[in-house]
Amino acid sequence: MPDDHSILAPSSASRWTKCPGSIKMQQDYPQPEKDQTAADEGTAAHEALEHLIAGYGHPRDLIGETASNGFVFDAEMVAGAQVMADDIRKVRVAGGGLNAHVEDRTHANQLHSQIWGTVDCWVWDEPNKTVYIWDFKYGRRYVPVIENRQLLCYLAGVLVRLNIHGAFNVVMKIVQPRTFTPDSPIREWKLSSSDLEPYFEELKVAAHTALGENPTLRAGSHCRYCTRLVSCPTAIEAGQSLFDAVQNVAVDHKKPADFGKYLDLLTQASEMVELLKTAAEAEAEAMLKSSTPIPGWELQPGQSSRKWSVDEKAVLEMGKGFGIELQNQKPITPKQAEDAGIDPAIVSAFSKTHEGSLKLKKSKNLAKYKFND
Ligand code: SF4
Repeated sequence: MPDDHSILAPSSASRWTKCPGSIKMQQDYPQPEKDQTAADEGTAAHEALEHLIAGYGHPRDLIGETASNGFVFDAEMVAGAQVMADDIRKVRVAGGGLNAHVEDRTHANQLHSQIWGTVDCWVWDEPNKTVYIWDFKYGRRYVPVIENRQLLCYLAGVLVRLNIHGAFNVVMKIVQPRTFTPDSPIREWKLSSSDLEPYFEELKVAAHTALGENPTLRAGSHCRYCTRLVSCPTAIEAGQSLFDAVQNVAVDHKKPADFGKYLDLLTQASEMVELLKTAAEAEAEAMLKSSTPIPGWELQPGQSSRKWSVDEKAVLEMGKGFGIELQNQKPITPKQAEDAGIDPAIVSAFSKTHEGSLKLKKSKNLAKYKFND
C-alpha cells in the first residue's frame, strides 16, 4: 500500500467536511504516537486481500506466510480478507469477467486537487452502467457505509478516470469482518448518479473552506480523530456547553419525548467529555514518559502477562521433548468452516446462532439531536 498522504485525505473526510478548520489546526500540531501494531496489522490485512483478489491458490496456503512488513497472516486475517475477495469475485463473474482495479491511486480533481487516495478495489460494470467501490476495514470500530465521505471521495476519483457520459448506478461497500455488531460484515450503499451532486458539492465546499482563509471549526463526535483535540478551544467549549445544558435541563420523566431528548443530551455530553478525557490522558502519558511531572498523576505498570520469547515451532518442539502436547487445538468458527469449503447446510446442523441480550440503542430512523450547528 502506498503510504504517502494527501492534505485532504479521503480517510479523514468525515472529519474535515464537518470541521474544515481541523486541517490547518492539525498541521500546527504534532501527530501523537500511533498504535503501530494496529497499523501494521491493517497493512498486512490489505496485503492478504491483494493476494486473494489476485487468485492466491487456496486461502489456507496464505496462513502463516509473512507480509512485507513482517506481520504473519493468521487464519482470522485471511478469512476476513476472503470475505471481501469473494464479494469482488461474485461481482466480476456476474458481469462476465469484469476487470478489478486494486490498490488504485485516484485523484478527485473535480472536487479539489488535494483530494486523492488509494482505493482498495473498484470495478466498472459497463453493460449495467454500475460502478462498484470496496473499502476494507480490519479495525473493530464500526464504520457506517451510508453517506460515508471516504467512499464518496474515492468515487469522485474513479469517476474522473472513467469519464462516464449519461446516468449510472453506484454500489459502495464497506467490508469489515471484525466488528461486534449484528450487521453483515459487508455493508452497501446504493445510489444513482442523480443523487451525487449534493454530496460532491459538500466535499467541494468543505475542501476549499479547509484550505482557504479562516476555515470554520465545529466540534462533534468527529473530533475523536483529530490530533488537535486536547488543546482545541472549540472542542473544549462544546464539552463545557453540553455540560451546562445537562445541568440546566428540566425533564418531565413522564413525557417520553422529553425523556428521549434528555437521553440524547446526556449521550452527547458524555461522548464529548469522554473524547476530551481520552485526548487529555494520551497527552498526560506522553508528558510523563518524557519526564514532565504532573502533580497527582503517574504511570504505573499494567497487568503483566507471560509470552513465549521463541517462535511457535520451537515451543512445540520443546513440549515434544517432554512428551507434552503444547498446541491448543481449538475448532475454527462456523463461518471460517464454511469459507474453508464445508457445506453451509452441514455447518448449520452443527452450529447455533445465539441472539445477543437486548441493549438500549439510538434508533437509526430518528433525526439525531444536534449541537453546535
Ligand atoms: S478538535 Fe474538533 S473542533 Fe477542534 S479542530 Fe479538531 S475536529 Fe475541529
